[in-house]
Amino acid sequence: MPAVVMDGKALAARIRGEVATEVAAFGRVELATVLVGNDPASHVYIDAKHKAAAEAGIHTRDLRLSAGTTQEEVLRRVRELNDDPDVHGILVQLPMPAHIDEEAVTRALLPVKDVDGLHPVNAGYLYLGTPLHIPATPGGCLALLDAYGVEIAGREAVVIGRSELVGRPAAMLLLTRHATVIMCHSRTADLAAHCRRADIVVAAVGIPRLVTEAMVKPGAAVLDVGLTRTEEGIVGDVDPAVAGVAGHLTPMPGGTGPMTIAMLLRSTVKAARFLNGDLAYPGR
Ligand code: NAP
Repeated sequence: MPAVVMDGKALAARIRGEVATEVAAFGRVELATVLVGNDPASHVYIDAKHKAAAEAGIHTRDLRLSAGTTQEEVLRRVRELNDDPDVHGILVQLPMPAHIDEEAVTRALLPVKDVDGLHPVNAGYLYLGTPLHIPATPGGCLALLDAYGVEIAGREAVVIGRSELVGRPAAMLLLTRHATVIMCHSRTADLAAHCRRADIVVAAVGIPRLVTEAMVKPGAAVLDVGLTRTEEGIVGDVDPAVAGVAGHLTPMPGGTGPMTIAMLLRSTVKAARFLNGDLAYPGR
């Protein structure tokens, strides 16, 4: 039987609708984004985030700074947004041009407004098992597993990739939900052997069709995060033939991508609730 398709587009639409209802009841919410440079994909992502935010009734502020902007200027603009009481969430679009120290920029964010969960305070709370703001893409992976009734507690999960944005937080979220987690990366000796044991696989690398049918345990849930733009279009880390063996699989595109935007909107409302005291944000 072919895998159940975990339809990220449909679930994202549902979450965006829920966010719109929440915003209408809550009042004014604003998301600010900071994009530096000319990376075409980043401009497309930011356009999509602004469109989705506007549809959910979230106000947006769109800072697009030229590729030559100095690090001091980027930091100054981030601090301005930190101090602005009208702004609830701040998203810094990565990657930034090479002369900008991305770590310094994400560390400059006010943690309570850091809707992508990149500041060490937010990463730290996730590590401690009490997440506050979490990165949107792995958050979307967990939301998909939950929506499709995939059991997490007690199952073996393999996360391929260990970036701050996707792999590490995905592993921490799965651990928080009581999975037994293996983190794989470029130095992993036998990726296939680890994958074959896994009930849940999260592939976040950026190598087309890295995960093949032979690497997947029958019935496993497979989340395809990695994407590569090729002449044949966008290709994921997971070979589509995996649908023949997996129990659940995200499509590419239409799986984890749309979820990322929906989760960002959800985090923005959460930031507004942290800021007005509806929800507790420790240390504020
Ligand atoms: P990244 O920072 O480049 O990290 C890639 C990870 O893959 C690294 O941890 C790397 O290991 C690991 N890796 C490289 N070659 C490998 C191999 N042969 N076997 C196993 N692991 C290997 O990328 P990222 O920001 O995490 O993004 C990962 C992918 O997800 C990219 O394709 C990106 O475009 C995509 N993405 C998609 C969404 C979405 O919404 N769907 C959102 C964000 C990112 P080392 O640490 O050892 O170098």
